[in-house]
Amino acid sequence: MPRSTIARIDLDALCNNYRTACERAGSASAMAVVKADGYGHGIAQIASALADVAPKYAVACIEEAMAIRAVGLAQPVVLLQGVHAAADLADCEQCDFEPVLHGEYQLDWLEQGGHAPCIWLKVNTGMNRLGFRPNELPAVMARVAQMGPGTRLLGFVSHFACADDASSAMTVTQTATFEAATSFWPTLMKSVGNSAAHFIPGQPLFDWSRPGIMLYGGSPIVGKTGPELGLEPVMTLEAPLITTRMVKGGECVGYGCTWVAERDTRMGMVAIGYGDGYPRHAGTDTPAAIGGRRIRLIGRVSMDMLAVDLSNAPEAREGDLVELWGGTVGVDEVASCAGTISYELLTGITSRVPRVPF
Ligand SMILES: *Cc1c(COP(=O)(O)O)cnc(C)c1O
Repeated sequence: MPRSTIARIDLDALCNNYRTACERAGSASAMAVVKADGYGHGIAQIASALADVAPKYAVACIEEAMAIRAVGLAQPVVLLQGVHAAADLADCEQCDFEPVLHGEYQLDWLEQGGHAPCIWLKVNTGMNRLGFRPNELPAVMARVAQMGPGTRLLGFVSHFACADDASSAMTVTQTATFEAATSFWPTLMKSVGNSAAHFIPGQPLFDWSRPGIMLYGGSPIVGKTGPELGLEPVMTLEAPLITTRMVKGGECVGYGCTWVAERDTRMGMVAIGYGDGYPRHAGTDTPAAIGGRRIRLIGRVSMDMLAVDLSNAPEAREGDLVELWGGTVGVDEVASCAGTISYELLTGITSRVPRVPF
């Protein structure tokens, strides 16, 4: 029997969250961002579950796009980092991938005989990760025009640096820069807007929005949880209690003896640790749950197990399942206890943990 440490994946919640993204996107269509193995949920099952509702997917690299084709899905797939090698252009042509080109070297590959029937151009509107600056666009557009009818430019893409922070003026500035930079080519499509942008009142999302974390129920907004934004948790991470015991006041638990019992305490060990992707930085008092009741971690997370205080769950027994995050304890809460964001926790779950749909 395998250990019962699993990530249960609620595909109905995923589809509900996608519908929420569509409602919030208004007249824009939403391409489902399923990179990083569907944010750690398993790209094959995530892409398949969205197949009836999502007209387009987006991923970071060609291997991820191939994983979507491998399960027989035919929707176009946007490659958010474009192509990483000239040879990838042949795959774009064969498999209907839409690379977002961000650098001169990628244009060189196209001019040297590579074909990509549909391309996007990335515009750097201030985040300064990837893309052409607005003043470089006219020259880039002239190059693309020379490529002939085999290469069709679909439109322009940009990305927001601070959409998660409602108090930042950066998103307004970037939107204005994007509109001005692309205004000479009004018939081409435009795509801005990660999940966070769906929650900014009045934010234009143009033709295509690109929701990622919100599809999985994680919050894109600083200081808010997914459920507070109307999103449903998709992953429930659970693991069994493998021992319970009383520790006496003054005794310690775990590596470094960082937690010392103030009084006699019933505690348990749970079969999950940082080797499964549970964050080692989650310290004492990080919430978990058992039977819908909240409990807390104590001491340091080990590679294969962690300790919990069972004072709140006196009836808990070996074999009972502990929820590390899910419907009772939000992944955003655990992330903030570990000093990170839900994105990192979800994508960090390792291959040792089976992803089981329900
Ligand atoms: C990952 C990514 C997204 C999705 O971002 P979320 O914050 O998860 O919604 C959108 N656009 C680009 C370019 C990305 O790399």
